Amino acid sequence: MLYFNNVSTFYGKIQALHDINIEVQKGEIVTLIGANGAGKSTLLMTLCGSPRASSGSIRYQGDELVGLDTPEIMRKSIAVVPEGRRVFARLTVEENLAMGGFFGSKADNQEQMDKVLHLFPRLKERQHTEAGVMSGGEQQMLTLCRTLMGDPDLIIIDEPTEGLAPKIVELVGQYLQTLKARGISVLLIEQKLTIAMTISDRALVMGHGSIVFQGTPDSLRADNYIRKE
Ligand code: ATP
Repeated sequence: MLYFNNVSTFYGKIQALHDINIEVQKGEIVTLIGANGAGKSTLLMTLCGSPRASSGSIRYQGDELVGLDTPEIMRKSIAVVPEGRRVFARLTVEENLAMGGFFGSKADNQEQMDKVLHLFPRLKERQHTEAGVMSGGEQQMLTLCRTLMGDPDLIIIDEPTEGLAPKIVELVGQYLQTLKARGISVLLIEQKLTIAMTISDRALVMGHGSIVFQGTPDSLRADNYIRKE
């Protein structure tokens, strides 16, 4: 579904990505792990077209993305959830979700909202509640669910569990498994191994702009990279 083939990216003369080869299949949860400055955000942003890959190919559902600009790429059923939890505090859950479907028609948005609320009953219960009064965990779920309003086939989430209590991390894990069960692919970007080791199908480890390990959580567990953490 998503293939990086020998992708390299530069910031001026500095090479930030070195010949990246990765893939994410339909319905797969893949976690990209790496320390600060390893190049995780650069990989994510290269996929989004800014900075542009200086060489290599990125194919998504058969289309070449390298050379397209960011709005064109974002129209291809890819959703990106940036780091941090942001809800519109004075708007209700329903209104927050509507913000995520801004570009769709009214009927399509309503249908998609019904689908999302059906998948996440806890949010449905809170449908008419102002987001600002909800717990941190519920706000996180709302942020994640808002992304579903565009009916994506691939979701890329930057550090969804950063600074969250274990109970909420568990909720995020359930959210990801719900997506997987619907055939949605997830690329998670994490500094920690928590989710990577429990629910990922595969883990990718980045170091100094290269992928230094790819494999199942079990093979990662058995490998030296994890022992160094
Ligand atoms: P973090 O977890 O801190 O977000 P990261 O793994 O996402 O780290 P990147 O932000 O992709 O790492 O950074 C990779 C390398 O590219 C680092 O050496 C960083 O200093 C460099 N870099 C990142 N953004 C720029 C930029 N706009 N201009 C020049 N160099 C950059």
